[in-house]
Amino acid sequence: MTNKEDAIIINSLMRQALVSMQEVMGDHGLNAVLKSSSLEKFIGNFPPNDLEPSIKASQYAQLNQAVEDFYGRGGRGILRRIGKSSFQYGVREQAALLGIAGVALKVLPERQRIKFILNGMANALKKSNSDVKAWLDESGGKLAYVDATCGVCTSRHSDRPICHLYIGSVSEAVRWATGKDYEVTETHCSAKGDEYCRFEVGDVKEQAG
Ligand SMILES: [Zn+2]
Repeated sequence: MTNKEDAIIINSLMRQALVSMQEVMGDHGLNAVLKSSSLEKFIGNFPPNDLEPSIKASQYAQLNQAVEDFYGRGGRGILRRIGKSSFQYGVREQAALLGIAGVALKVLPERQRIKFILNGMANALKKSNSDVKAWLDESGGKLAYVDATCGVCTSRHSDRPICHLYIGSVSEAVRWATGKDYEVTETHCSAKGDEYCRFEVGDVKEQAG
């Protein structure tokens, strides 16, 4: 019965976002964004890597909005990089939670590898917060990652999908599993009134140099 508006983000998720933002934007960029989203309390003071509830999901969403506002047209690209960096953090710090510790994927066909990691991401989120509703969608033959409790866009409104950070995480997860860069598209987004955010894995991208 948790209302989306007052959902809570756990410490480790907030820490993951802040560490990734610091990697991509540097201290200067991160601190400016934290100030502009009234989250100064996290400047030089990241939450610990545990499951305690730390901030409101709506504030986490504001943080995403603030990055877009701060970087203008470049904001979407920055958010995708933060998402990629965020998945890498998960591999480094939360391998057990993701279910990837000691797993050999090379023996599996590519589609199975993608399913494995997207299921791993959904399960990790659900294990760390029982309110999360996330799953792997195979309807229509495509593979997609779906989150009906997306923290990136909760309480935000837009006529276009806005979960750029999440696109970065999903595409990095697929790259981790296959060694290839697949196109990932957000086909549905809660911010524009859809019931969930849905990230569809498309084709392998053309090599861009
Ligand atoms: Zn979305």
